[in-house]
Amino acid sequence: MAGRIPQHFIDQLLNRIDIVDLIDGYVPLKKAGANYKANCPFHGEKTPSFTVSPAKQFYHCFGCGVSGTAISFLMDYDHMEFREAIEKLASGAGMEIPEESQGFKPKQTMSQGIDLYQLMNEVNDFYQTQLRQNSDKQQAVDYLQKRGLSGDIAKRFGLGFAPEGWDNLMSKLGATAPAQKALLDTGMLTQNEKKRTYDRFRHRIMFPIHDHRGRVVGFGGRVLDQGEPKYLNSPETPIFHKGSELYGLFAARGGIKEADGVLVVEGYMDVVALAQAGINNAVATLGTATTPMHLQRLFRHTPNITFSFDGDRAGRSAAWKALETSLPSLQDGFQVSFLFLPDGEDPDTMVKKVGKEGFEELIRNATPLPDFLIDSLQKQADINRLDGRAKLSKLAKPLIEKFPNGVLKKLVLDRLAVITQVSAQDLMGVTPRAHSADQQNSYPNSRKPDRKAKQTLQRAATMTPVRRAVSLLLQYPQHHAEFAVLQSIPEDQLRGIGMIHELRLACESNENMSTATLLERYREASFRQTLVQLANHEHNNIDSLADDEATALIQGTIAKIIEDYNSAEVAKAEQELESLTKRQVASQLSSEEVARKEALITYIRASYKQV
Ligand SMILES: [Zn+2]
Repeated sequence: MAGRIPQHFIDQLLNRIDIVDLIDGYVPLKKAGANYKANCPFHGEKTPSFTVSPAKQFYHCFGCGVSGTAISFLMDYDHMEFREAIEKLASGAGMEIPEESQGFKPKQTMSQGIDLYQLMNEVNDFYQTQLRQNSDKQQAVDYLQKRGLSGDIAKRFGLGFAPEGWDNLMSKLGATAPAQKALLDTGMLTQNEKKRTYDRFRHRIMFPIHDHRGRVVGFGGRVLDQGEPKYLNSPETPIFHKGSELYGLFAARGGIKEADGVLVVEGYMDVVALAQAGINNAVATLGTATTPMHLQRLFRHTPNITFSFDGDRAGRSAAWKALETSLPSLQDGFQVSFLFLPDGEDPDTMVKKVGKEGFEELIRNATPLPDFLIDSLQKQADINRLDGRAKLSKLAKPLIEKFPNGVLKKLVLDRLAVITQVSAQDLMGVTPRAHSADQQNSYPNSRKPDRKAKQTLQRAATMTPVRRAVSLLLQYPQHHAEFAVLQSIPEDQLRGIGMIHELRLACESNENMSTATLLERYREASFRQTLVQLANHEHNNIDSLADDEATALIQGTIAKIIEDYNSAEVAKAEQELESLTKRQVASQLSSEEVARKEALITYIRASYKQV
């Protein structure tokens, strides 16, 4: 991992640049009142619902619900990683990224003065040369031809050949001690217990693995004889992390964009065979289960992910794992589906049978995640029995909880409610109030604009005073001092009050705080989406309040929070007083209890006088 970028630098950077200029460079913007508008670059539309606010330094689409800062825009529109986006903005603004010294660990990409990326390039060249020139190359060439791969495809994927023998690579690239050490660090050489060093990959077809910038970071090797293991991957190294890389992603970027979707398969041979058949949007995990990091990478390229698995038991259980990993990232608009192949088939054999069009048809008809989820649950419980329905709702709850709040979650919950005949509220064990608060800022699952639905949702909702305060503070951070009176309410006494304290302290530390700089702090937070929605909430049904209107609304909101809090406190005191009085009738109170009773009476009386 690269060093963490200090928060104060991100604040400065976002204050220095103008999101309007940035986005206008990609999507021409038109002025509309205090904001700028354009047809949304993230979903197809004819009337503009994509809005950029210079005051908030924030964009938002009322059609598909996307929103974010300048950093998010580059990540979503240009598929950049977080750090790359910051690097690009910083270089445009003429700023240099400082590294945070505390806990900062530079990525070790050098070994013995040798650049590991450069070294992997040389290794890659070596294997490719062997496929063309080695005297034993024929077996490898025959194998590729038998699998139906053309020379073009072999070239496109950079396929190579590791000949038989223990030291082909080592004698070519590891002649000196430092070079040998560097090759060990990249996992291309390995050592046995007796410290004998030798080539890790022998007598194999070599598949170079590229990172998201197209650099070779590792290899997969398919054995050419009956040797074991059949497939061998590079180990984890300073530059190769299986949990975050996907085989073929760099090469598939164009294909994913064109197909508006990505297919995740299990092996690199499948990716290459699919490309041979003309399907260019496949990637493979590298012998690990799908991770949240994989999903994050993929969703940066497309909202549509299809996983392909064998239809057998092992395939289904792997699919279930992928489902569980996917749930937390299923924001509205993102779709995950499962393609189950017939027993004994893999994508390679299947595409040979049904051809390109046939296979694309299979992808189109893949099982949507919600269907797979509900079908699998139904298989585990007999819904014709009362106790079966109870079992189903018990199995469903932890899964539903993993969905981010939004329309999809609600739809799945509603369907389960129909099946189990248990109300959605009882299914989740939530209070109706919390439930409606969750829904109120959600957008319809469809990527088409549906303003009416959104307005209905907003009107139906009751926004709690605390949520309104968080929303106002996010939108009008220059008013942060007015929120200081809420300090007297302890964090554990009122839900959400801690969030207000936190945001206010952030504003105190930086007088130029904007909606964007505040939200950027919560990029990784589980409740980020809620904050984004609150940052977009239209108070008094207009998108930007004048300064005095904002002041009035903030003061009214704060007064309401304090009033609610006090009356809750008084109610608690009254309850305690009542129980003490009841006990007094039955038995003697201790002297502490008598004193407590006096204090409660005084407190309650004083509170009535205040009103
Ligand atoms: Zn949109």
